[in-house]
Amino acid sequence: MSFPIAISSAAAGSRDAVKTTCPYCGVGCGVRASARPDGGHDIAGDELHPANFGRLCVKGSALGETIGLDGRLLHPKMREPAGGALRDVSWDDALDAVAGGFRRIVDEHGPDAVALYVSGQLLTEDYYVANKLMKGYVGSANIDTNSRLCMSSSVAGHKRAFGEDVVPVCYEDLELADLVVLVGSNTAWCHPILFQRIIKIKEARPDMKVVVVDPRYTATCEMADLHLPLSAGTDVRLFNGLLRFLAEHGATDAEFVDAHTNGFAEALAAASAGDSNGAAIGFDLAQCAKACKVDPHDLLEFYRLFARTERVVTVYSQGVNQSSAGTDKVNSIINCHLLTGRIGKPGMGPFSFTGQPNAMGGREVGGLANTLAAHLELDDAKHREIVQQFWGAPAIASRPGLKAVELFEAIEQGRIKAVWIMGTNPVVSLPDSDQAKRALARCELVVCSDIVESTDTNAFAHILLPALGWGEKDGTVTNSERRISRQRAFLPAPGEARADWKIICDVAGRMGYAGFEFASQQEIFDEHARLSAWRNDNNDGVENAGVKDDAVRRAFNLAGLVGLGSEGYAALQPVQWPVRVDNGAAAPGTMRLFDDRRFSHADGKARFIATAPRAPVNAPDDDYPLTLNTGRVRDQWHTMTRTGKSEKLAGHVTEAFVDMHPQDALLCGVREGDLARVSSRWGAMVARVQYGGGMPRGSVFVPIHWNDQVASDARVGAVVNPSVDPLSGEPEFKHTPVRVDKFHVAWHGFSLSRRAPALDSVTYWTRIHGAQFVRYELAGRNPLSEHGDRGAWARALFGVDDAHADWLEYEDRTAGIYRAVHLVDDRIENCVFLSARPELPAREWLASLFAKDKLDEADRIGVLSGQSIGKGADTGPTVCSCFGVGRNTICTAIREQGLKTAAQITACLKAGGNCGSCVPELKKLLVDTELARLSAA
Ligand code: SF4
Repeated sequence: MSFPIAISSAAAGSRDAVKTTCPYCGVGCGVRASARPDGGHDIAGDELHPANFGRLCVKGSALGETIGLDGRLLHPKMREPAGGALRDVSWDDALDAVAGGFRRIVDEHGPDAVALYVSGQLLTEDYYVANKLMKGYVGSANIDTNSRLCMSSSVAGHKRAFGEDVVPVCYEDLELADLVVLVGSNTAWCHPILFQRIIKIKEARPDMKVVVVDPRYTATCEMADLHLPLSAGTDVRLFNGLLRFLAEHGATDAEFVDAHTNGFAEALAAASAGDSNGAAIGFDLAQCAKACKVDPHDLLEFYRLFARTERVVTVYSQGVNQSSAGTDKVNSIINCHLLTGRIGKPGMGPFSFTGQPNAMGGREVGGLANTLAAHLELDDAKHREIVQQFWGAPAIASRPGLKAVELFEAIEQGRIKAVWIMGTNPVVSLPDSDQAKRALARCELVVCSDIVESTDTNAFAHILLPALGWGEKDGTVTNSERRISRQRAFLPAPGEARADWKIICDVAGRMGYAGFEFASQQEIFDEHARLSAWRNDNNDGVENAGVKDDAVRRAFNLAGLVGLGSEGYAALQPVQWPVRVDNGAAAPGTMRLFDDRRFSHADGKARFIATAPRAPVNAPDDDYPLTLNTGRVRDQWHTMTRTGKSEKLAGHVTEAFVDMHPQDALLCGVREGDLARVSSRWGAMVARVQYGGGMPRGSVFVPIHWNDQVASDARVGAVVNPSVDPLSGEPEFKHTPVRVDKFHVAWHGFSLSRRAPALDSVTYWTRIHGAQFVRYELAGRNPLSEHGDRGAWARALFGVDDAHADWLEYEDRTAGIYRAVHLVDDRIENCVFLSARPELPAREWLASLFAKDKLDEADRIGVLSGQSIGKGADTGPTVCSCFGVGRNTICTAIREQGLKTAAQITACLKAGGNCGSCVPELKKLLVDTELARLSAA
C-alpha cells in the first residue's frame, strides 16, 4: 500500500499536523504530517524547524509513500529447530527466548560472549536503554552501532582535539561564512537541504566562495568556485600543506594558539616531515600538489583563499571519515582551524556532517563500543564510577568493547555466541559483508529487531522482533548541529509491533535486572538528561552542587531539560545542547561552542594533533588495479528498505552501477551499458557500467544501496576491504583495490508486469517498483534458444498458461531480438523485451501504459517497438523526482524553447522547483544539450 503525498508546505498547514523529524540524514529536517480523510498522510516541511524552515529534499518529500505496511514485520517470529522456517509466536515466548538465551550464554561464557549491534536509526531513548543494559548490567561493552561505519573517525578526531566529541558549529555558520570548504562530501545528494541553504546564500552573496575537495566531480561541484580532485587518501597531505602554508605566511592567531592550545610545534613538524613511505613532502607546494594529484595553481588558490578569509567553515563527511586514516584526516582539518583561531565564532569552524538521523543521539548515550554514556569514557575509572553510581548498576564494563568489524570477526570465531541486531542490515552494509554472512550463519543465537520482515540480515535470525517504524515511534533525535528534535507518532502501532525501548526493557527485566521499569520514553529521556548533568562540572547550580571535586567537566549537558514531565516532553521544541541551568531556570540552547575558548581537556586547552600522512592499507596492484569508492545516490537511503518502496524515488537510478572513466573501461574490456563484475580479494558483485559520474582515471564508484532483496548480486559491501582506522575502527569504504571484468551474458532484457515474474532461468536481475507495475532488468548466461521456444519461455516468466491469451510478439532471430506484450481486456498486463545486445528500448513510456485501463490504437502500434508514436509521450529517465519530470522532456524544452538556465527550466516545467536536489543535473543537461546542438550544427 502506498499513499500519494502533497509536497507543498501549504498542504499540511491547513489541518492539524503532527510535527516530527525526517528519519533519513543527519540534517534532521522538521516534518509536518497531516492525516487525510482517505487514511493517507500529507507530508510537508515544518516551516518553523530551524534545520529546514519548511523545505524537504526529495527523500523527505516522499516519506508518505514509505509508510504502508507491505513487507512489514508485524508479529514476533521464531525459527523452527534445525534452521526451519520462521513462525509467529507470542511476545512472551519471544522475549523469554531472547532473555533466556542471553542469560544462559552470559552465565556459561561470561558477559563478553554476547553483543548488541544497534543503529543510528534508533531514537535516543532506545539507544540509552540498550547501552545501559549492556554496559551497566550485562557488564560488557560489546555494543556497537552502524554509526561506526559513517562517523566514528569524527568522534575520535573531536575527542583528540577538543577533549570531547563536540561539533562546535551550527547550520547558520554555513550562511555566515565567506568560504565554505566541503571535503569528501557530496552535499548536494547526501545533505540536500544544507546544500540548498548554501546555494541560497551564495546566490545572495556571490562573493562567498565554495571549494569542493573530492576525487570525484560530484553534483556538489556544480556550485563550487574551485574543485580540487585530490587523489584518494591524500587529504592529510593536502591539509598538512595548508597548515604549513598558513604558518609560513603568518595567517595565524598566535594569541589563541598560545593561550588556548597545545601541540602546535609537533603538528607543524609532522606536517613538514616525510610520510611513512619516506617520501619528503615538506612544504613545497608543487610537490604537495603532485602528491595529491591536483593542479598546483588550484592548490595555491585554495591555500590563499583559506589564508585570507576569516570566516571559514570546513565541512567533512564520509569521504574523510571512511578511511584507514580517517581520524588523522579529521585532525589535519581541525589543526588548520586551531592555527587560525577560527573556532567558536560566527561563520567559522570545522563541521562534521553526520550521515544518519540519530548518529549524534547515539554518541550522547555512549552507543559506541568504546564510549560510556553522557560523554564519559570507558577507560577512565572515575568516569565508570560516575555512571555506575548514577545507574546503581550491579556491574560496569571495565574496558572498551569490540568495534563493528572486529565484533563480527568475534562472532565468526565463536567468541561471541549471541548477537541482537537492532534496526540495521550488516549483511549489506559492513565491509567484507560475506564475512558477516559467515558469522551470523554460525552464531548460536541471532536476534533481529526490525520493521521489515525480509532483509539480507533477517534471513539469519533465530528470533525476529517487530519494531515500530517512522511515523509510529515517539522520542528524540539529535542532528548534525547538536539540535535535539522530537520524533512524534502520527500512526498507530501496526500489528504487534512495539517500541525498541520497550522491547529492550522487557528483555532486561526478564534477565533479572532492576533499573528498566520505565513507563514511557519520556521517563528514559529524563534519566538521560539527569545523567548528563550528574557530577558535571559544567553545570553550576544543579544536582552536582557540592560534589565539584568529584565531577567531570563535559560540554554535553541537558540539565535544563531535566524534569520536563510528560507535557513538557510532548511539547519540546528543537533545541541545541548544551542546555544548562542558569539561576535555577533552563537556559536556552547553545548555537555554537568554545566561544569562551575553553575546551574539554582537563587543562581547558585544545590540542593540535601531529598527523603524518600514510597511504591506504591496501594499494592497487596488477591483479586489482583500480580503486573502488562507494557512496550514496540522490534518491535512495541505506539498504532501500524504506526508500525502495517509493515509486517517486525509484525512477532516478534504477539499477546498481559501476561508474568509471571511459579509458579505464576500455582497458577492462567493457563499455557503457555492459554488465561488469567488480571484484576484490574479499568478494564480488555485478553492476551496469556507466560513464559520466566524474570519475578520475584509476577509480570506480559503486553505490551502497542495492542488496539481495532487490538484485541478484549487487551488494558492494561484499567487495569492500575490511581495513579500519586504528583509532576509530571506521572501515575504509572509499579505497578498495578492485578489478572490473565483463560479466558475459548471452542476452539482455527487461520486463514490466503487474506481478513479479519467475526468475528461474535468469542469471542477472534487479527490480524497482513503479505505479501499478514492477520492473525487472534481466540478463541470462545461457542463450534463450537453450530454453526452447522464446514465446513459451516468456509465458512461463509471467505464469501465463492460457493458450488464447492476447499475446503480441515480435522476433528477429538473426539480431537476437524478442519482444512480447500480454494484454488482458486491452489493458497491458506484462511485457518483456530481450536482445543479444544491451541496447533496448526506453522503459518509461512502456511503464506509463500500466496506468491506462485500455490501450488505444496508437499505443498498440507503438507497444512492440517500445516507442510511442505520439510526440513527447516518452519522457525519458526521471531527473526531477518531486514533479516526475524526465530527461527527454527537459532536453526537448531546452531545445525548442531556448532555455538557458536552471531557473528557466523550473519556470517552464517545474523541475527543480521543490527540493532543488536535481538542479545540478538540470545544469548539466543545459550544457549537454548545447554541446549536442553545436556538434550537430
Ligand atoms: Fe530528510 Fe532530506 Fe532533510 Fe535529510 S535533507 S533530513 S533526507 S528531508
